Amino acid sequence: MSKVIGIDLGTTNSCVSVMENGEPIIIPNSEGGRTTPSVVAFTKDGERIVGEAARRQQAVNPDRTILSIKRDMGSDRRIRIDGKAYTPQEISAMILQKLRRDAESYLGGTVTRAVITVPAYFTDAQRQATKDAGRIAGLEVLRIINEPTSAAFAYGLDHGQSQKILVYDLGGGTFDVSLIEIGDGVIEVLATSGDNHLGGDDFDERLVDYIVKEYRQSEKVDLRKDTAALLRVREAAEKAKRELSSQLKADIVLPFLTQDKNGTHHLEIAITRACFDELTHDLVDRTCGPVNQVMNDAGLTMKDLSQVLLVGGSTRIPAVQEMVRRLTGKTPAKTLNPDECVAMGAALQGEKLSAGSGTGMTVSSAAKDVILMDVTPLSLSIETLGGISTKIIDRNTTIPARHSQIFTTAAPFQTSVDIKVLQGERHFARDNKLIGNFRLSGIRRAMAGVPQIEVTFEIDVNGIVKVTAKDLGTGNQQAITISSTSNMSEEEIRRAMDDAKAYEAWDRERKEAVEARNTAESLCFETEQALHKDKTCDKEQKRIIKDQLSALKKALGRTKPDSITKEQAEELTRLSSQLRESAASLHPEP
Ligand code: AMP
Repeated sequence: MSKVIGIDLGTTNSCVSVMENGEPIIIPNSEGGRTTPSVVAFTKDGERIVGEAARRQQAVNPDRTILSIKRDMGSDRRIRIDGKAYTPQEISAMILQKLRRDAESYLGGTVTRAVITVPAYFTDAQRQATKDAGRIAGLEVLRIINEPTSAAFAYGLDHGQSQKILVYDLGGGTFDVSLIEIGDGVIEVLATSGDNHLGGDDFDERLVDYIVKEYRQSEKVDLRKDTAALLRVREAAEKAKRELSSQLKADIVLPFLTQDKNGTHHLEIAITRACFDELTHDLVDRTCGPVNQVMNDAGLTMKDLSQVLLVGGSTRIPAVQEMVRRLTGKTPAKTLNPDECVAMGAALQGEKLSAGSGTGMTVSSAAKDVILMDVTPLSLSIETLGGISTKIIDRNTTIPARHSQIFTTAAPFQTSVDIKVLQGERHFARDNKLIGNFRLSGIRRAMAGVPQIEVTFEIDVNGIVKVTAKDLGTGNQQAITISSTSNMSEEEIRRAMDDAKAYEAWDRERKEAVEARNTAESLCFETEQALHKDKTCDKEQKRIIKDQLSALKKALGRTKPDSITKEQAEELTRLSSQLRESAASLHPEP
C-alpha cells in the first residue's frame, strides 16, 4: 500500500512530510524548496501555475494570482477567472494537487492518502471544505487534525514525562495558541484560542505602510496608485522582515520602481530592527490575549507549564520570542524547524492511522502507543424557548464526543419541532452562528411538556458534527450532518474532481508537447553540426537528411512554445524520428 503523506496546508506556505525509516522527513518540492508557497496563478493563455513560480509572477499578474485562499475556506466566496467561478476548495485542491505530484516524483509511486492539518479555530464548515479540497485533488483524507496538536505530536515523541505544553503558532495568516497535555501515552489538547486574521502578512503590511509613507514624503509619489510597484514593495518588505530576524538592519533597494511625469523613481531605504519592532509591537501584543485565555480556560497558571513550543515562520521574529519568554517565564523550545514540525506531526499521525487500519490504536513505529485526542474549538448548542442557546457540547470537549439531552414541546398539541444547531459561546442564539437547521415532525399530540425529544450531538475525529433528534414516544427520528450551505454539494465535488483530473491530463499533454518541441530543436542543431563535420556520407543520403531537416525546421517554425498543440507535437515527433534515423548514417570526424 502507498505511503500516507502529512500535509500542512498553510495560509502562506504549505509543507509535506512522510515517514522514512521511522522518522518524519520533509519532501522537497520540484523546485527544491522545503515549503511551497500556497499561491495559485492563471496565466493569460490559460495555464495554471502553483507554488514558487506563481508567487514570483504575482507582481506582473496581480489580478490572476490567488493568495491566502485558506482564509476563505468554508465561505461562499468565488474566484472568477475567464468566466469560470472557482470555490476556495477548488483553488486549495490545485495546491494539494501540486504537493501530491511533487510527493509522487520524490517517492517514485502513486500517493493517494493524506493527513491534512487545519488551524485549531477552524469551524466545521472549514474542516469539511479542507477535506473536500483533498478529495478534489485525488487524495483520500484519512484525518483532519489541528495544527498545534500536530506540532505537539512531532515534539511529543521527544519527551517522555507527563507535561503541559503551550503551543504558540504564528504563521503567515493565522495565529493559534493551544494548551497541550502530554503524558502516559496520550496527547490531549486542553484548550485552544487564537485569531484567524493575525499573522506574518500583517507584519509585512506594517512595513509596506511605513515605506509608502516615507516614499510619499521624500519622492512625492503615492505608491498605492501603482499596483505592480506596490507588489514589489510588499515582496521586498517580507524579505527585509526575514533579514531582521537575524540582522539589526535591512536595506531595501528597488531600482526603477515607478514612473510619473517627472521621470523614473527608485527606492532605497534602510530599516532597523528597532524601527520594525516599533511598527509591529501592537501585533505582537495582540497575541498575549489568546495566550492568557487558554491558561484561564484550563484553570492553569504559567507556572504549570513545562514547555512552550514555537510553531510557524513568524515565531522567528526576535520580538515575538522575547514576548513569549516574558509572558510565560519559559524559554521556548525550538529543536524542530517551526515551518516544518506541523507537517511532520501529520506524517506521524498518517503512519499511525495507516498501521492501525483507521482505529488509531496500533502502530509499528516510534509513534507506538500514542493516542491523539483533540478538542472542539467552540461550544455547540440548540436554540430553545426565548431564543436561548442551550449548550449540548462545551468548547474544549475532547473528541470524538457524543452528548444527549432530553427536550420537550413548548406549546400544547405541538406535532413538530425545529432544531436549530448553533456554534459559539454567546448566551442568545442570535449571537451565535447557525450551522444547521432541521425539523422533527410526527410528534404524538400531547400537552406541552409531555413529549420527550432526545437530541444527540456526535462529533467525529475530524470534528464533523452529526445531530439527531428522536421522539422517544414514537421512535421517530431525524438527523443531519452539518455541512454549511457555503460548502460544495457532492455533485459539485465530483465535477471538480473530474475537472482536476482533466486538467492534470491536459497539463501532462502540454508538458509532453513542449518536450517534443525542445527535442526537435536540439535534434535540428545536432544534425546541422553533424552534417557540417561529416566527410564520409554519400551525397544522396545528405540530400535526404537536408530535406528532412528543412521539413522539421518548417514545422518548428509553425509552433510557439507557449501554445503548441497536441497535433503539432505529434507532427514534430514523427519528423524528428525520421530525421534521427537518417542522421544516424552521418559520421562526424572527431
Ligand atoms: P508559515 O505559514 O508557518 O510558513 O509562516 C509563514 C510566515 O512566516 C510568513 O509571513 C513569513 O514571512 C514568515 N517568516 C518566515 N521566515 C521568517 C523569518 N526568518 N523571520 C520572520 N518571519 C518569517
